[in-house]
Amino acid sequence: MTTMAVLRKSDDVADEGESLIDRIAALSRTELTPIALAIDEGEIYPAEALRHLGEAGAWSAHADLRDTIAGISAIGETCGATAFMAWCQNTLVWYILNSENAALKVRFLSNAASGKLLGGTGLSNPMKSFFGIEKLKLKGRRTDGGYIVRGALPWVSNLGPDHMFGTIFELEDGSGDKVMFLVDCADPNVTLTPCKPFLAMDGTGTYAVQLRDVFIPDDQVLAAPAMPFVKKIRAGFILMQNGMGLGLIRDCVAIMQSVRPSLEHVNCFLPKQPEDFAALLGELEAETMQLAATPYDSSNAYWRRVVELRLRIGDASVAAAHAAMLHCGARGYLKSHRAQRRLRESYFVAIVTPATKQLRKMLADNAREYPGDQG
Ligand SMILES: Cc1cc2nc3c(=O)[nH]c(=O)nc-3n(C[C@H](O)[C@H](O)[C@H](O)COP(=O)(O)OP(=O)(O)OC[C@H]3O[C@@H](n4cnc5c(N)ncnc54)[C@H](O)[C@@H]3O)c2cc1C
Repeated sequence: MTTMAVLRKSDDVADEGESLIDRIAALSRTELTPIALAIDEGEIYPAEALRHLGEAGAWSAHADLRDTIAGISAIGETCGATAFMAWCQNTLVWYILNSENAALKVRFLSNAASGKLLGGTGLSNPMKSFFGIEKLKLKGRRTDGGYIVRGALPWVSNLGPDHMFGTIFELEDGSGDKVMFLVDCADPNVTLTPCKPFLAMDGTGTYAVQLRDVFIPDDQVLAAPAMPFVKKIRAGFILMQNGMGLGLIRDCVAIMQSVRPSLEHVNCFLPKQPEDFAALLGELEAETMQLAATPYDSSNAYWRRVVELRLRIGDASVAAAHAAMLHCGARGYLKSHRAQRRLRESYFVAIVTPATKQLRKMLADNAREYPGDQG
């Protein structure tokens, strides 16, 4: 099957009477709303909902990245944890789609884009290593027909026994060369260890992953060398994260508006009103969509705008969830109320790689040092 046949545009689904985003939003409301609390508490990993979202086209809209982001945002309006898993899944598809390895695409693209194959990304450690924040944790060596890889990653999400994820290892031959590849969680030499419970994002299928001399066949290699590929996929990787924040902020506006009828007489004294966040949301969304129209722009000016916007969306997510808590008062403090879930989810937008501190470091560093510029 060709790449374009696998990918869909929102118009394809619009012909069926409903836009792709409407369909994703409807599925989120019907399938995720009832289980959002259980996902938050780590009782459910929503594999079935993720597969249904895949069938609806949520993981195959990369022909226009704006559709992908709008889809993640629609999911994020209901459940931040599932929006994160949506980002993980879309990132997996984004890697496969952009790979020049034809055999890899034949093997994985259609299944990942349809949601038959679920998975994610283990790029936090590589992304931090490119900025001198920590050392690359996976090492590998060339062998007949592929590579042998070992090492461990502390957190990788949207995983399960038959899932896959993309990450990067460094060759042990002293060259410093890096290879980006897919890990198959079903491999007997791959171990998934559940993480200790998280404050939020607990139902996201997040595991510590250990690779014990795992054979990676050539048709699981996304890119060798990895760095030019990282440069190609980096803007899309970050812009898709914006969908998580945009959906969350939209729901925080809705939360603030929902308590207005009973609390306006006192909430009007709060410094930030829902209209402030609605206006900010409009601005952040417009900038996201403008940048997402050209995800392969390789200029430093473009990359800087991507990084600045991602930082603003992390800050705005925390600010909107904080304001939603203040507007709700005691009712938002109940465990059963989503305002407190939104607050906990919002911190994740600000700490998932690239975290606020890393984004600030990236902006402080010389623009030439961004990952991929070496390659
Ligand atoms: C719920 C959840 C899901 C995540 N999913 C993914 C994913 O799918 N893919 C991915 O690549 N990354 C994932 N991460 C990692 C995430 O993207 C960030 O890298 C992480 O939150 C820390 O980033 P930071 O820049 O703040 O680093 P810091 O927290 O400042 O530093 C991280 C380093 O500190 C050390 N460290 C600190 N505390 C611990 C601890 N409790 N256990 C182990 N090491 C520790 C480790 O050496 C680690 O590399 C996930 C994290 C969380 C909390």
